[in-house]
This record gives sequence, C-alpha cells and structure tokens, in this order.
Amino acid sequence: MNLYHLIQSLNPEQKSQLLHILQSESKSNQENLVEAKFHNGLFCPKCGCTENITKFGFKNGHQRFRCKNCGRVFNEVTDSFLMGTKKDISIWKKYIDCMLNHFTIRNTAEICGINKTTAFVWRHKILDVISSKTDKEIKLNGIIEVDEAFFNISYKGMRNLPRESHHRGTKANKRGISNAQVCVTCAIDRNKNSYGKISNLGRITIDSLNRLFENRIEIESIICSDSNSAYRKFSEGIGCKHIEIESGKHKNGIYHINHINSYHSKLKTFLRKFNGVATKYLNNYIVWVDNMIDEIEELMNIICKQRYRSFNDRKLIPVI
Ligand SMILES: [Zn+2]
Repeated sequence: MNLYHLIQSLNPEQKSQLLHILQSESKSNQENLVEAKFHNGLFCPKCGCTENITKFGFKNGHQRFRCKNCGRVFNEVTDSFLMGTKKDISIWKKYIDCMLNHFTIRNTAEICGINKTTAFVWRHKILDVISSKTDKEIKLNGIIEVDEAFFNISYKGMRNLPRESHHRGTKANKRGISNAQVCVTCAIDRNKNSYGKISNLGRITIDSLNRLFENRIEIESIICSDSNSAYRKFSEGIGCKHIEIESGKHKNGIYHINHINSYHSKLKTFLRKFNGVATKYLNNYIVWVDNMIDEIEELMNIICKQRYRSFNDRKLIPVI
C-alpha cells in the first residue's frame, strides 16, 4: 500500500518513465514464460507433436505458434485459464504479489485496476490450479498425524440460498456435530507434507477416510490420532500401524498429534481474516494456508502449464 501511495505521488513525467520500465520488464517476463512452458522444446498441446512447429505471429502480446501436423495454433498459456484473459501477464503478476501478501479483495482490486468480482474469481482460479497440483502430488509417509475439525456450512455470497445462511462459517463446537457442519480432515507427516479437505458431513467415517487418503499414504506408515475408532479401523484397513493418543494426553513418546493440532489452529486463524468463507471455496483456502507456492515466477509457470476446466464447475458442499 505504501508503494501504491508513492506511485500516486509521482508527477506525469516520472509516471511515464516508470511505465516504460515496467513495460520492458513485462516483455521479458513473457519471454520467461515461453521458456518455462517449453523448457523441453516446443510441443503442440493438441497432438503432442514436437516437430514442424512454426511461429505464427502475435496476438494479445503473446507469441503464437502453429503445428503443421494438426493445424493447432497455440501460445505459452494455451489450455491454462490465462488463455482467455484480456489482462496483461504483468497484471496477473501484480495480482499474485497482492495475494501472497494476503491483501484484501478490495485493496487488490484497487492496486491491479480490476473489479472486485474479477479479483475474487482470480483468487479461486489460482487456488484451483494449486489444488489440482496438490491432489496429484502429495504423498504422506512415516509418522502421520490425522485429525478432523468442523465448520458450519456457509452459503456466503450466493444469491439463491438453499437454506438459511450461516453467514460466518465459524468453527463449530465438537459437541453436537450435525450434518449442518462439514468435517475437514487433515493429515501431516513429519516431513511437513500435508493434505486436508472437506471429507464429509458430520462425524468422520471410515469410508470418507478411505476416499480422502486413497493412494496417498505409503505402506508401513504409522498413523497417530485421537481415540476416535474410525482412525483405528481405517489404519488397520490400509495395513498401517495405529497409535492412539488418549484424550487429555498429549504425548506417547515420539508419537503425538501436536503438529496436526497446530495445523488446524493455523487454518482457523487464517480463515478469520476472511470473515467467513463459503463452504464451496473452503478447500481452496486450506490449500492456500498450507500448500501455497510463494514465489511469483514459479506460480506463474505452474498456472501456464496446468490445464484449467471451469470456474463454475463447483459443488456447493464439496464432500469427497
Ligand atoms: Zn499438433
């Protein structure tokens, strides 16, 4: 924000000099993206062909290429959500910078010169991409701590509410758990690999644990949890040793659930900044608090490479 005010205080000539510097920078950023996306050489996103690809002019500031094999015209952002954007890559980078600094939607919109709805949509497009990357990559092994937390269902921001809105989406009391709450189940290993998501409505079940952690926990891992029997049965089912931490006790030698407890309190603190989040976006915020890539260039490279399907394709209550 200081920088923003500083820029405001420049005279027209200084502003135009600054603009010049930023524009030439943005050009080389674009070149970086092309290099990153095609670091193994050019390839066609349609047929995968690596030969017979020629340059095919510029459009919206992007160098385009054409595959002579199948006729597909593409650029470095083809198939990512940046393909449809009319905003310059430099605005996206500015946006990511705001996001990494946890600026509000309002401040971010102001700094980037976009409207608030766009700022909100961009937030979740970026988080969608990181989320699908996390889904593909995260594996847990060794000593793994698991626990669940409950959040009231929230339809914040939705026009046609299915039922009465619990506006704030606050963390619900563990007592009196009902299907008006989503169960967020998270696991973390001692290498700080972590994975968490809305698993189901109400109390945790063995079925939802199986679905959530399918192919994610390496064999011969050791699972630490509280005394909820679902965890014991789940561990037995996947052939892992289970260590139960009795309630009231915090430690059993090297086995404890301190890391997962602090994971949940970090999540809770983080969510408080947003004055409640809609349940349909909750998984994205879990990814943001824990699996965020905090380097702008790296994040841009990931966004360019990842296919993006649809923003609106999202369940109101995304249980697995
Ligand atoms: Zn092709």
